[in-house]
Amino acid sequence: MRYRYSQKNGRAEKQAVIYSQDEHHIQFSDIDGSAFSVCSMLQKVGYETYIVGGAVRDLLLKRKPKDFDIATEARPPEIKRVIRNSRLIGRRFKLVHVFFGQKIIEVSTFRSIKDGTIGNTFGKIEEDVMRRDFTMNALFYDPVKQLLLDYVGGVNDIRAKTVKPIIPAGVIFKEDPVRMIRAVKYCAMAGWTLPAALYSKIRSQAPLLETVSPSRLTEEITKIIKSSSAPEIIKSLEDLNLFKYLQPAASALIKSDKAFAEKYFTSLAAPTEGKEKDGRVVSYLNGLIEDYLELATDWSLFTEKTAQDFYKETFKKIRAFIQPMNPPRAELEGAIRAIFTKQGLTVKKLRLQSRFSMRRGSRLVKNENQKDQ
Ligand code: ATP
Ligand code: MG
Repeated sequence: MRYRYSQKNGRAEKQAVIYSQDEHHIQFSDIDGSAFSVCSMLQKVGYETYIVGGAVRDLLLKRKPKDFDIATEARPPEIKRVIRNSRLIGRRFKLVHVFFGQKIIEVSTFRSIKDGTIGNTFGKIEEDVMRRDFTMNALFYDPVKQLLLDYVGGVNDIRAKTVKPIIPAGVIFKEDPVRMIRAVKYCAMAGWTLPAALYSKIRSQAPLLETVSPSRLTEEITKIIKSSSAPEIIKSLEDLNLFKYLQPAASALIKSDKAFAEKYFTSLAAPTEGKEKDGRVVSYLNGLIEDYLELATDWSLFTEKTAQDFYKETFKKIRAFIQPMNPPRAELEGAIRAIFTKQGLTVKKLRLQSRFSMRRGSRLVKNENQKDQ
């Protein structure tokens, strides 16, 4: 184990622990090639650059990272100058997106803590680390030298299976209430227990979540349902009564209807995207809406004549059910269409998203036959 030092009052002071490959055990083959290229390109022209956040945490937890975020001392225009296939994004919080075909690697410049943990001024790496939420999320990995930089004891906290806040308790949730959801998510995902102090802090500050914008809540619930630990995360959020801020209607049903709750958690465990065994295309939204639709819809009322209204009604019902989540219309339509397909009703998309036609499927024919008898 080595250390990174800084100079303070003319004396060298330990600042961070540096773990080598035989200490951190992150396999080079698990590193995304595009993330490696970004780090390598920026380092070659002299900018300190690392893989940060969730990817490093997941690699240490032996989970497959969803995405690889990069943090660097280079400023956005400098990043853009070094990496041609990139674009500056964000008006206030400036970031750079680097494009590798369909894949996007997000590169952010180290931020300062001068104006709190949600400000936007650029800063040094040792400031950047102090504005990250939990020690497990504040590790910096250099894929070129294969070294792991730990300013906050994150490696030991991961080994001790504990979620430890970096930002002081008095401000962490006041500055950003979504961090409460994140704490519960990381614990559930890793199968850890929420530390008692954090648990009671979250219990008392949970109402702050009422002030969070629908777009942030949408972003958070979307990530959760796309995660392979969605049922565990949502159960933990429900236990702490936080799920009602993300999905109030579903949370109320979980509390009042045991059978619904059971089905809901089973659906959330199903594949979140792609094709199921029976060839049905599943959207990441299916787990959230499928059981409610089943509960709230009388499929036998569907006829060719009423198809348009039936679909519109269903869409409205679902839109209201998942509020304040507000996914893109096309994605919600895709998810509803997949459920209609399961019911034997084929929904065809026409030129406009709001125009559609429906074809009778086997289920509908069966229902009608049954009625005729
Ligand atoms: P996941 O994407 O699985 O939710 P993540 O840790 O990658 O996990 P991101 O939202 O992608 O989460 O953020 C990347 C990193 O940015 C985090 O690991 C953390 O260091 C920091 N971060 C993100 N959101 C916050 C926040 N609300 N407060 C403080 N730091 C944050
Ligand atoms: Mg991430």
